[in-house]
Amino acid sequence: MTNNPHAPEAPRHETMSQFKVVDNCLQVGGRPLTDIARAVGKTPFYAYDRAVMTAQVETLRAALPPGIHLHYAMKANPMPEVVRHLAGITDGLDVASAGELRVALDTGVDPASVSFAGPGKSDEDLRLAVASGVIINMESVGEMHRIAALASAGNVRPRVAIRVNPDFELKAAGMKMGSGPKPFGVDAECVPAMLETLGTLPLEFMGFHIFSGSQNLRDEAIIEAQTKTFELAFRLAESAPSPVRWLNIGGGLGVPYFPGEQRLELASIASNLAPLLQMASTKLPGAEIVMELGRYFTAEAGIYVCEVVDRKVSRGETFLITNGGLHQHLAASGNFGQVIRKNYPLCLGNRVTAADTEIVNVVGPLCTPLDILGNKVALPRAEPGDLIVVFQSGAYGLSASPLNFLSHPHPGEILV
Ligand SMILES: *Cc1c(COP(=O)(O)O)cnc(C)c1O
Repeated sequence: MTNNPHAPEAPRHETMSQFKVVDNCLQVGGRPLTDIARAVGKTPFYAYDRAVMTAQVETLRAALPPGIHLHYAMKANPMPEVVRHLAGITDGLDVASAGELRVALDTGVDPASVSFAGPGKSDEDLRLAVASGVIINMESVGEMHRIAALASAGNVRPRVAIRVNPDFELKAAGMKMGSGPKPFGVDAECVPAMLETLGTLPLEFMGFHIFSGSQNLRDEAIIEAQTKTFELAFRLAESAPSPVRWLNIGGGLGVPYFPGEQRLELASIASNLAPLLQMASTKLPGAEIVMELGRYFTAEAGIYVCEVVDRKVSRGETFLITNGGLHQHLAASGNFGQVIRKNYPLCLGNRVTAADTEIVNVVGPLCTPLDILGNKVALPRAEPGDLIVVFQSGAYGLSASPLNFLSHPHPGEILV
């Protein structure tokens, strides 16, 4: 990295080795991007490579000690074909709405391996969750009583876990989801009293869900959070009305997006987990230990592809204006959780390298200065019709974007 904030960021290739280049054209799933664009029939579109997702799951499984169940948190990428693919190679799904739950159930996955978290579940959400037999991660005492009322009315015994707002934080997380006052989960210090009430209700107590954060690239921060997560679970289990059968320790594993970011070190996380699992086997015998991951499985498998519509020079800077942007990929525009805007890695998909590179600003078609995909990036000279590719776009892309802002057509989506 350079100290000059105005110096161009070099296009990054070091973390994009998951996509091959043949005859100077980017390949997705072994097919040239230009063929995929023709198959989709329009730009912009998202393309996801199933082999890259499979490799991510397998790499993590191979690294972690046996006995960890891997769940896919489908809000990262809820495309039904993607969910079906990941349901087939993971051990379960985590959903955050009734809509996601329906997609999850449609994959044919065993409902007992699906969990449903999210503050503000409606009675409608809860009715579907109860009827389908998934584990409901309860976010409050009030929610527990609403589930109990549905249970009494339907003469069923819903499976429930308590989502705990931990008394520690995942340090250096991209997005902190635990510790301090939070709308998520039940404060750890209030859980023993809740467990006492739970024991009197027609609910099947499964265990705890402790999720402390997301997008973390520091193994030592994850190690610390996981150690504290097990300690907290062991402590809370002493107040439980029945043995803990299920412990969801969250996820938080990040992927590199920006220059200078290193891939997460899995070996040290695994060697810290092994003795924790050993301890869990004596303190919580028979309990299933679950990690839930969204981004880690899908982010690197996806690209966003848009087409250059116009090129122009304004006061010495070249602008490539594309038909895609913030409305379809909010995260790449820097407006989804980033504090300082940085470019997602970009390339020109149909002409990856060329002798005549130039420094350009890649912008979308919206009438707002926020609609930037690439600020001062070096790309081969591009003309209208060329394909701009945004890497690391398989998570929190399409479904996390304000699609209707400016009423452009919606993008295509393909799993290759
Ligand atoms: C969003 C979310 C996840 C997934 O987070 P990633 O960073 O995509 O892995 C997991 N669990 C819960 C409870 C979430 O809200």
